[in-house]
Amino acid sequence: PAMLGILGGGQLGRMFATAAKTMGYRVTVLDPDQNAPAADFADVHIAKPYTDPDALAELARTCAAITTEFENVNADSMRWLAAQGVPVSPSGDCVAIAQDRVAEKTFIRNAGLATAPFLAINNAGDLNGDLSAYLPGILKTARLGYDGKGQVRVKTAEEARLALSDLKHQPCVLEKMMPLVAEVSAIVARTSKTEIACFPVAENQHVGGILDVSIVPARVEAAIAERARQMAMQLAEKLNYVGVLAVEFFVLEGDELVINEMAPRPHNSGHYTLDATLTSQFEQQVRTMCHLYPGKTDLLRPAVMVNLLGDVWGEHGAEPRWDVLLTAPNTKLHLYGKKDARAGRKMGHFNVLAASADAALEQAEAIKDTLR
Ligand code: ATP
Ligand code: MG
Ligand code: MG
Repeated sequence: PAMLGILGGGQLGRMFATAAKTMGYRVTVLDPDQNAPAADFADVHIAKPYTDPDALAELARTCAAITTEFENVNADSMRWLAAQGVPVSPSGDCVAIAQDRVAEKTFIRNAGLATAPFLAINNAGDLNGDLSAYLPGILKTARLGYDGKGQVRVKTAEEARLALSDLKHQPCVLEKMMPLVAEVSAIVARTSKTEIACFPVAENQHVGGILDVSIVPARVEAAIAERARQMAMQLAEKLNYVGVLAVEFFVLEGDELVINEMAPRPHNSGHYTLDATLTSQFEQQVRTMCHLYPGKTDLLRPAVMVNLLGDVWGEHGAEPRWDVLLTAPNTKLHLYGKKDARAGRKMGHFNVLAASADAALEQAEAIKDTLR
């Protein structure tokens, strides 16, 4: 069977490996961490840095196709792999855009799609002009932010200057704080033959900057959800994207939709597809990288996904009370095999399927309350 390579061995790599092996492929994972969640799910684990020349050469030599689960992998490494003649999806160019908030938001704008008002900040001088279009706002590092890290909320230009200094004068964007009615996401799968499919839109609720629950279908008007899907597919087309692309949106008053950001990989808000659609987002990743067709994306049942952070574990990593979750008939537990349950660390998730999104949410919250 063909060997598929993946850059990154976190939980997304682990779920990718499961999907790939279900489809009869073998999997090589590159991740420097000896205990990476995907390591024991891989046929081969290369425990070297993402830029290690020997590691990249081994991937190029042994893999029929290569993808990534980690957007901060070196884009030049991906370009080098592609130059060796191995299909690499998404492309290093698309990953490079998604790695940098300035490049990302500029691309989205140029594609004719809406973002929040933003200003690129390369140095303190960029904060000297009239900032009224961006305040109150959020100063976000252009690179390497996730789960709300590297973000400071600022009300005045003075606060923005202090925040920039707190962020060590890294390149940033200053983005206007938007009045959110809801947050939603859409996950697209697009092949090199330009076939495209989009999963149903998820409604996402965050706690402390980290995704807490995803509710599907999103409880927004059908026309808004459809517009989010169309915008996500349009963005994938403009990027000439191959692979799985996740697009996060803000829903504003007056049915306005703006794109917040994209991820060049499966996304936490798409974990419901493991149980509520016939094809999961990880299977779409396998299909798209192998130049196969995208699978069916229709929702079999309304679903709610709840993230399980380390906070749910007790002192010294004591296990949550799984009994209620495991005896609920329409609930499925997914754990990532991580050893230390630190606060804020994504340890797993569970999906609840029900007759309606509201019913699934009610049950999911009741279960979550019993875990501690
Ligand atoms: P992720 O873990 O999704 O990659 P991130 O660290 O890249 O997150 P963002 O998605 O930019 O961060 O922001 C995290 C959350 O903060 C958003 O989901 C939203 O709830 C809130 N937020 C970010 N930007 C804005 C904004 N301009 N207006 C209002 N809320 C915002
Ligand atoms: Mg992000
Ligand atoms: Mg985000």
